Parts: sequence; C-alpha cells; structure tokens
Amino acid sequence: MPYKLSGREVYIVLSAIYEKYYYIADQLINYNENFPINTLEYWKSAGYVSRDVTPDYFAYFDRSGRRHPFNLFIFGRFHSAIEKGGNNFDEILESSVYAPLLKPNISAMQTAEMNMKNYLSALGGDDLLNHHYTILNMLLSYHRHDLHPIVTITGTYDPRKAVDNYQALASEFYHRLGPGQDWQSIAHFLVYDTKRQGEGTDILFKYGNIQVYKLPLGTACAGCKSLYIESEKPKLYYISDLLNSGPQSITQRVEEESTTIPTCGPSHLWCGCSGPFPLTKMEWWFDESPPNAI
Ligand SMILES: [Zn+2]
Repeated sequence: MPYKLSGREVYIVLSAIYEKYYYIADQLINYNENFPINTLEYWKSAGYVSRDVTPDYFAYFDRSGRRHPFNLFIFGRFHSAIEKGGNNFDEILESSVYAPLLKPNISAMQTAEMNMKNYLSALGGDDLLNHHYTILNMLLSYHRHDLHPIVTITGTYDPRKAVDNYQALASEFYHRLGPGQDWQSIAHFLVYDTKRQGEGTDILFKYGNIQVYKLPLGTACAGCKSLYIESEKPKLYYISDLLNSGPQSITQRVEEESTTIPTCGPSHLWCGCSGPFPLTKMEWWFDESPPNAI
C-alpha cells in the first residue's frame, strides 16, 4: 500500500513546493485551467490521498497564503511526487521539492528562461545571453534568500548570510561570470523588475484587476514623472495593463533613457519609482476620473 497523504499533509507539500519555486510558479499561473477531477478521484481510490482532499487544495497559494486558481507548476511537481509514491510523508515531501524537473516544470522554466533571455539580450547582448541559465538560477536563489556569497572579503561579507541586496548580487555576478558587464545596473534592474512584477501579481491575485498607481521620487527623471504623474496627481492604471506591458517594453526600457510605456517594473535602468500601489480611493488626491489606457 502506498503512503496515504492526509489533507493537512497535502497542504504542507503544496506549500513547500510553492515556497521553493514561487518565482517560477508565478510565471505559470493559469487562470482558466480546470482542475483534473478524474486525477484526484484516481488518487483517492488508489489510496494516495485521503477522502477529504478537494480540488480546492490545488489552488495557487500567494505569498500571504491566499488561494487562487490552479497553478500548473505546483500541480506538476505534486503529481510526479504522488505517482512516484513513498513509504512515508517525508519521502513524498522530499521528492516533491527536490525531484528532477518534469515536463510541466520544464515548460514553466522555459517561460521564465524566455523572459530572462529577452532581458539579457537587451541588457548586455550575446555575452550576457550565454549566461542566461546561470543568471536566472542566481536570481531565483536570491529571491528565495538562499544565494550565498562565493567570495568572502574579510569584514565585508558574512558567508553564512544570504545575499540580500542588489550590490551584493552584482558582486556575485562579477565573481561567477567575470568582468565585462555593468553588473550593478543589471543586478539593480533584474532585482527590482522581478520584485515589482511579483508585487503586481500579488495585487492582481488579492484584489483582481484593480486600479493602481506608481510614485516617482521628487528627483525622478522627466520621463517617469510624465508616465506616472499628471496635474500633480498620480496617474491610474489597471494592474493587468502594467503587468502585461513589461516584456514588450524591455528593449525600450534598457536602451533608452526613459520609456513611453508604463510598467510594473523599472521604467528604465536605475528607475527608482515605487509601486504599483493599489488605489484605495481614500488618497487625498483621488477624484473619480477614468483610468488611463496603455
Ligand atoms: Zn522611474
């Protein structure tokens, strides 16, 4: 008899997968995917999971623990671990998190890789593109807080401490991939782009396609101010428009001083604009005019 996971254990395994792979998982959220009920019924009758497990367990978990529709990546890893089976809970948990990537996982990785390739070719051309896999993995590791410095300079780094800022990440890029690139700009751009995209995705999941705004610093460039401020008030955009405009605008964001496309992430290299912030309609500047279209 295979080990039968209780509802609680199913929850722990799914959460552990998300915890380790959230950046990849976030790239492969499928709003319209229906949960394969037959698969769950088969698992129940074969004794893999207990009877109380419902399709709702296989929803997407965001960073605040809320559930959203079925996530292809997380389901794929769970599926492979369940069908492989195990003698106890720990074995199944272990193979869910550490098993080699399978087909659904690989397609998630390919999406993440494709985005990364677009970024890197705009940021540094072919030299950088050759390292896309290493850079993607380092960035994933950075966001998971488990990227440790490989070079320690006395008094500068504590090797037990994970890399936790873009300057330190730039130094890791330099030490692993060599000179010849502006690693500071690249690290700043990649860190803030993934961070803001993640925050934007969170907003979309938590509140739906609501209106948001970004806040340029007082010292921001004229380009950013005109994108995000109008008549001294923040401009409003729908969050899905900002999220979707990211990949298309990448070349413009990297190669030109300022972009004409509002984005979730940085509008250009070294852009320090904060947000997106959800509109609460309590903002002092808020009035009822319709949001801007992109
Ligand atoms: Zn900016």
